[in-house]
Amino acid sequence: MFQNLQDKLDRAFKVLKGQGNITEINVAETMKEIRKALLDADVNYKTAKAFTDEVKQKALGQNVLTSISPGQLLTKIMNDELTALMGGSATDLDLSKNPTVILIAGLNGAGKTTFSGKLAKYLKEKRGRKPLLVAGDVYRPAAIDQLEVLAQQVDVPVYTNRESKDPIGIAQAGVTEAKQKGYNVVIVDTAGRLAIDEALMNEISAVKDATQPHEILFVVDAMTGQDAVNTAKAFNDRLDFTGAVLTKLDGDTRGGAALSIKSVVNKPIKFIGTGEKMDALDVFHPDRMASRILG
Ligand code: GDP
Repeated sequence: MFQNLQDKLDRAFKVLKGQGNITEINVAETMKEIRKALLDADVNYKTAKAFTDEVKQKALGQNVLTSISPGQLLTKIMNDELTALMGGSATDLDLSKNPTVILIAGLNGAGKTTFSGKLAKYLKEKRGRKPLLVAGDVYRPAAIDQLEVLAQQVDVPVYTNRESKDPIGIAQAGVTEAKQKGYNVVIVDTAGRLAIDEALMNEISAVKDATQPHEILFVVDAMTGQDAVNTAKAFNDRLDFTGAVLTKLDGDTRGGAALSIKSVVNKPIKFIGTGEKMDALDVFHPDRMASRILG
């Protein structure tokens, strides 16, 4: 994960590591390299610029106050700033309602159904909840089959209605079923589209209005780079989601989405997907991710 970015940051740091102190000139040069590395990693331009300006200012400001080497100082500042850029500390789900309704949104292939299964397993095993999955993708029978298979794997019940083509009615019926049978979390998987379109947005907005979810998790494929951030923006404008889920971070992703989403849409990343298996889910910790990026 992020190997390319790590290598490039490492190279940028070398300029400063060899120096005895931080000067306006050598820090500017290093920041130029760091900005390039971030842009290559698909971090959006404004984010990269604001980030390097901040790091530069801190490096110059703290230079005289400290006896540690320029390389160490810069590593510490970068660590703090990367952590802040990704949201500071981990943001937990709001699971306080009974039942808590969690709506899963995103484009086709982002990993919504896979994440729904993973989330059900996490809530059951790690958080002691009784989840119910709801198959809200009415357009693809295969999506219902897929959710049923995953539900069986993680041993969580799933509400389906193969006769219905009404995602709103299905979501509402799922919530009613949870209330009747004593499930305290309802995870509503929804239909995606290949690209953002009005019909998708109208439909998912209507599901939101009808079910009043406590969490709306926007699932996005980290491999899609800048597009991930644009899609996040479009979904957030319509849905005002409560958190993002970055999937496929196990692949050869450049990492830009992880670094840009928080600053562009001002919503936390809550989970990351690191594989196809049902246990390949991690709570997102900005500080751990920053340490990982800096190697
Ligand atoms: P949906 O259309 O949004 O419901 O997407 P799916 O859940 O069907 O996922 C699309 C593909 O991505 C499937 O082949 C999943 O196995 C795969 N996938 C989902 N999450 C991850 C992940 O975190 N890592 C990897 N490597 N593959 C994933």
